[in-house]
Amino acid sequence: MKDSADVTCRLDAAAAACQRDGVRFTELRRHVLGLVLTAEGPVTAYGLLDRLRGTRWNAAPPTVYRTLDFLLQQGLIHRVERLNAFIGCDEGASHTHAAQFLICNTCGAVDEVDNPAVANAVGLAAAAKGFTPAHATIEIEGTCAACAGSVAH
Ligand SMILES: [Zn+2]
Ligand SMILES: [Zn+2]
Repeated sequence: MKDSADVTCRLDAAAAACQRDGVRFTELRRHVLGLVLTAEGPVTAYGLLDRLRGTRWNAAPPTVYRTLDFLLQQGLIHRVERLNAFIGCDEGASHTHAAQFLICNTCGAVDEVDNPAVANAVGLAAAAKGFTPAHATIEIEGTCAACAGSVAH
């Protein structure tokens, strides 16, 4: 569980970054980002829609998708393709970067790793084929440390 002071701090940082970039961080965008950040793990668009319906936002799916697209473009969240779900960026800053995700098959935990060496290696491998990558999110499935530990003991 993320504590709410941390989430408020990240929302304020997102607002400042949007202002710096000259894009609007509307109340709905802030609200949706807050929902992603307070979620226990990755959330699907429909999961978010459900949560929004519990509030005054009577959001339709296209509204949620547009809002998620905005948050993705701003680098505030990532999309975990494997799970078709969204997760807040651990970096917290408004910039896009190549991320790697460790997805636990046992407990479903998703951990973000931002290793520039991995991103560079992928870029070089693509360049060797004359390929220009636009987006490279690497998703690694396996067993997290906590689950591996509980099996060992
Ligand atoms: Zn990130
Ligand atoms: Zn696990």
